[in-house]
Amino acid sequence: MLANEPVHATGRRTRLTIRAAFVEAATDAEDDGVKFFVNSGWRSPAYQEQLLREAVSKYGSEKEAARWVATPDTSPHVSGNAVDIGRSDATAWLSEHGAKYGLCQIYKNEPWHYELRPAAIDHGCPPMYADPTHDPRMQQ
Ligand SMILES: [Zn+2]
Repeated sequence: MLANEPVHATGRRTRLTIRAAFVEAATDAEDDGVKFFVNSGWRSPAYQEQLLREAVSKYGSEKEAARWVATPDTSPHVSGNAVDIGRSDATAWLSEHGAKYGLCQIYKNEPWHYELRPAAIDHGCPPMYADPTHDPRMQQ
């Protein structure tokens, strides 16, 4: 629903993908001396399941793990709509300029996690959720 959503980015109808948005942002960030590091892009459902199992053992319960790691059914990484970015100078750059590219931080507790929100180009990014457990998409 988010990737490949048609937008009027430059006055003509075009298709914006999260990859294209990141390439454009990374190019401009480089002019500012900031380099993006992609820590995690698309994940297979099996890999997401493994991350979730690791989180459950790290945080001690499924409830606590849910604040940090989604299930294979709900993760925007599995559907290809999210990218985790490093390092801190890159996330600082994106929090200042990301909306212009349709790239938004979604969760307050995950400054590295960005998703494509084409409407942000015109209207700015939507308010953030405190953490993924507040995200209606995670309630499936
Ligand atoms: Zn993420």
